[in-house]
Amino acid sequence: MNSELEDLYQEVLLDHAKHPRNFGEINEGGVHVHGDNPSCGDEIHLHVRFGKEGRVDELKFTGQGCAISLASASLMTVKLKGKTAAEAAEFSRAFREIVTTEVPDAAPALGDLRVFSGVRRFPQRVKCAVLPWAAMEQALRQTNGEATVSTETDSGGS
Ligand code: ZN
Repeated sequence: MNSELEDLYQEVLLDHAKHPRNFGEINEGGVHVHGDNPSCGDEIHLHVRFGKEGRVDELKFTGQGCAISLASASLMTVKLKGKTAAEAAEFSRAFREIVTTEVPDAAPALGDLRVFSGVRRFPQRVKCAVLPWAAMEQALRQTNGEATVSTETDSGGS
């Protein structure tokens, strides 16, 4: 990756960390998943409301943590809003792949999410990037109620 592209990626990431999109809570119904990443101290509270045929109608988060975890959560909410459950699961799988594996021409459909491809050089930060996605995977599994996930017990999204 050339350094200009890397600078651009850095900018996108910092922008989302400083000004997280879809930051807040959903009051009525939906799923509420707490995500913990004890190795860094990141905490994400993800709120998802599913609509017809499991579509992600609303997706918001609150929490605190490092720039990587916040930017990942912010970009994820932007990306997954309005998607079907199957599409959301596929994004999650592709995201885990780019943060752990060297994929040439990483899935163009990932768009801005590709800013996280550099994270794989920093194994400790992979958990930060994956945290919101682990919470989302849990939300997809249960579609209502509350749950807690932790990167320490993360099964890898199977
Ligand atoms: Zn972190």
